[in-house]
Amino acid sequence: MQQRQCVQPLKILVTAGATREAIDPVRFISNRSTGFLGCAIARLAHARGHQVFLIHGALSCRKPRGVPAIEAPSVLQMREELSRKFSWCDCLLMTAAVSDFSPKTFSRNKIKRRAQKEWTLRLKQNPDILAGLGKRKGKRLLIGFALETDDLKKNALAKLQQKNTDFLVAVQMGHNRSPFGKGRLDVLLIDKEGGIQELGNVSKTILARLLLNEIEEKLCLKYGTEEVYNKI
Ligand code: C5P
Repeated sequence: MQQRQCVQPLKILVTAGATREAIDPVRFISNRSTGFLGCAIARLAHARGHQVFLIHGALSCRKPRGVPAIEAPSVLQMREELSRKFSWCDCLLMTAAVSDFSPKTFSRNKIKRRAQKEWTLRLKQNPDILAGLGKRKGKRLLIGFALETDDLKKNALAKLQQKNTDFLVAVQMGHNRSPFGKGRLDVLLIDKEGGIQELGNVSKTILARLLLNEIEEKLCLKYGTEEVYNKI
């Protein structure tokens, strides 16, 4: 099959995995993200010859071989690593599942089981990393991800606008099918012009391929393209 490919490799920054917000030295708040999708995207982008850098939280999958990576376990560490690396990239895929809240205070000692039956953990809202980067994106392509249990289209469109992303990959959280790990996803791809592509029920490898095709389609115009055969 004949397809177009960038003459020059793109600089692609990918975040993956779950952030962990410490409660005490032993416990944390996190989520079920495995990092599988982010790692699949980074692996494929590297295989297509792009320059890729991965910033990751907790992963339950293998990191892509040959892709330079740095660990950013918490939201604040992820924000710091991203602000360091953002100006380098042509495109950011913010696949990481960033905690929306973290404990208001961190206990230096392990919190003991108490006499009372209930205990209240106070949370504070975390900075929205992607929305912050969206304000200084320049010509960079920003891709956000959203996992929704309800009102997929409406919530995803709102997030795309709030965060000033070029694309929002909206994933439906089903009742009996887990979106975490190797499973397939029900996906809508929304662009900033309001165009909605129903990608249907796709594997994460296929989703990675579709997203990279979109990125190349948009960004390779900047660098020029050439006709190639048998694209990965
Ligand atoms: O949590 P939410 O559904 O709003 O996440 C949508 C997008 O925003 C994701 O790409 C996620 O990585 C990013 N995000 C972020 N900072 C947060 C929360 C989410 O960058 N504090």
